[in-house]
Amino acid sequence: MTALELRELRKTYRARGRPPVEAVRGIDLRLDSGELLGLLGPSGCGKSTTLRMIAGLEAVTGGDILVGGTSVTDRPAQRRNIGVAFENYALYPPLTVAENLAFGLRARRGSRDEDVSRRVAEIAERVGLTGILDARPAGLSSGQKQRVCLARALVREPDVLLLDEPLSHLDAARRDTTRRELKRLQRDLGHTTILVTHDQEEALSLADRIAVMRDGVIQQLGTPYEIYDSP
Ligand code: ADP
Ligand code: ADP
Repeated sequence: MTALELRELRKTYRARGRPPVEAVRGIDLRLDSGELLGLLGPSGCGKSTTLRMIAGLEAVTGGDILVGGTSVTDRPAQRRNIGVAFENYALYPPLTVAENLAFGLRARRGSRDEDVSRRVAEIAERVGLTGILDARPAGLSSGQKQRVCLARALVREPDVLLLDEPLSHLDAARRDTTRRELKRLQRDLGHTTILVTHDQEEALSLADRIAVMRDGVIQQLGTPYEIYDSP
C-alpha cells in the first residue's frame, strides 16, 4: 500500500529584489507503508525544503502531497500527523523532557492523563530516555536532545516520519549504537520514513531504497545495492 506519494512537487522561493530560487523542481515519489527511504544529495539540493513541504512547515509552489491516498497539501501541519525530527526544530526550554513528549499528545482531543503518561513512558523506554525524563533541554547534551526530538516525533504514532540528520551530533561510537537502535525501532514500529543523511553507512544500513537529489530533482532512485554498486 502506498503510504506517502509526492506528485510533481515544486518549490520556488521568491524574495523581493532577489532572483527566484527553484529549490524543488518537480519530484515524483511513492513510499510503501513501512518503507524507509534514505534521501541523499549535496548541500542546497532541496532535501530540507522537500521535508518541510511534506510536514506542512512550508507552502508548496506546485504539485500534491498524499498521505494514505488523501491529499494533505492544503492542510496545516498540525492536521497532518507527520512526525518530524529536524535539527533546528527546537524543544520547549521551560518544559521537562517528559512534558515536551506529552505536549503534542495532550493537544489531541480526548486523550486522558494516564494514557498520555503511559505512552510517554513507553516511548522513553524505547528511545533510551528513561533516566532523563525530568531534565530540561538546557541540561542535555546535543546527542540527548536529538533522542528527545526523535521520541517526540514517534510519540504520536505518526503516519509518516521525517528525520533530518538524526545522528549528526553523536560521536562515532554513539552513532553506531544509535544507528542499530534506529534499525530496531524501524523494524518494531514499522513507520513509513524519509531519512535525510550525509552518511553513506547510515543510508546503507537503514534504507530500503535511496533517492539521490541534485538541483531540486531526484537524479537516482533504487535499492542501496543499485545506488552504490552502479558505475
Ligand atoms: P538541502 O536541505 O539539500 O541543503 P535546502 O532545501 O535547504 O537544501 O535548500 C535548497 C535551495 O533553496 C538552496 O539554494 C537554499 O539556499 C534555498 N533555500 C532554502 N530555504 C530558503 C528560504 N527560506 N528562502 C530562500 N531560499 C531558500
Ligand atoms: P539545511 O541545509 O539543513 O537546509 P540551511 O543552512 O540551508 O540548512 O538552512 C537553514 C535555514 O535557513 C532554513 O530555515 C532555511 O529555510 C533558511 N535558508 C537557507 N537558505 C536560504 C536563503 N538563500 N535565503 C533565506 N533563507 C534561507
